[in-house]
Parts: sequence; C-alpha cells; structure tokens
Amino acid sequence: MPSPLDPRSPLVLNTRELPRRPGAMREVERTVPAPEGFGLALSGVPAGTPILLRLRLESVTEGVLVTGTAAMRVFSECGRCLRPIDDTLEVSVQELYAYPDSTTDATADENEVYRLWEDYADLEPALRDAVVFALPAQPLCREDCPGLCPECGGHWDDLPADHSHQRLDPRWAALDSLLSDVPAAPEKTTRADDQE
Ligand SMILES: [Zn+2]
Ligand SMILES: [Zn+2]
Repeated sequence: MPSPLDPRSPLVLNTRELPRRPGAMREVERTVPAPEGFGLALSGVPAGTPILLRLRLESVTEGVLVTGTAAMRVFSECGRCLRPIDDTLEVSVQELYAYPDSTTDATADENEVYRLWEDYADLEPALRDAVVFALPAQPLCREDCPGLCPECGGHWDDLPADHSHQRLDPRWAALDSLLSDVPAAPEKTTRADDQE
C-alpha cells in the first residue's frame, strides 16, 4: 500500500514514542511552516508562514487523540478598501487518529475519522479545516471602513468631506467632451536608420 502521507512533512506527527496504553500522554510544541492552501479569497496564511503548534498526544483505546492549539499570523485585504490587514489567529484542534484495525477503524467511514498510518498522524487536513473555517470571508480593516470612492478610487478617509465628482458647471462638461476626443499619443516607432 502506498503511503497516504509524507512522514517528513512538518505537520505529520510521529506517535512512535507514545506508549500504546490508554492515558499515556506526550506534549509536542513546535513551529512549522504553513503548507499551501490555508486561505480564502481575501484572507489567508501564506505558505511558509510560521505556525506555532502546542499539542497533547494522548493514547486512548481506539487510537491517539490530538488536542491543542495552533497560532499564526493571517494576512487579509479589506473587502471595502483593499488595504492590507495583518492579524493573528489561534485555532483549537481536537482529532482522534484511529488505530488501523481498531473498532473505530472498522465501523467509521473513511472521511469520518482520521486514521494513523503506521505511527504517523497527519495533522494537515484537520488544521486546514480549522484555519479556513476561522478566517473571515469578508475581512474589514475596521468595522466602519467607508471604502473607496467609486469614481476615483480614493479612500473616503483621505478625501475631503465634500468630495464629489458632480460637475455642475457646464464649461467642465464641455471640457470633458473635448478631452475625450483627444487621440491617444502615437506609439514610438523605431526608425530604420537607428539600427546598425
Ligand atoms: Zn477598509
Ligand atoms: Zn472620487
């Protein structure tokens, strides 16, 4: 059977040192680089961002229970003004990794419960679910972000209170139509005698 996981991946936990006796415990604290795919359209944890894992591996009858937290920086873009938002996120994880040939393994569906593969538990799918679930779908730089002027793209914070694109003076309208008639500058062409 081919390996369903990569034992060298930083999010794969080796449980070999954990005695297979219910109640036995082991603490794991490590910083790992974020893998690909920890994100949504406007918010995410870029690949390589350090994730601090504080985990407890516990032997239970059916397998290894992994409980703990993962803390990381999150980079988002305000959904209204596109300003970058630099934030932090801590998520909790609690997953059972069933022993192959345990009752849980025999009775639970493939996608219902994670399995140990040999002595390895792959934390990546569970952590990805927890992170993606916790990310804001509509991040805002602040609750009352006023966004951008749809005409010029200026941030309302930076524009004067009376900012407006309404041109009431007819002379401006006349100038606008003149400007729109100006042809674009011709493209520079290379003259044949420039070349040697
Ligand atoms: Zn904003
Ligand atoms: Zn404007």
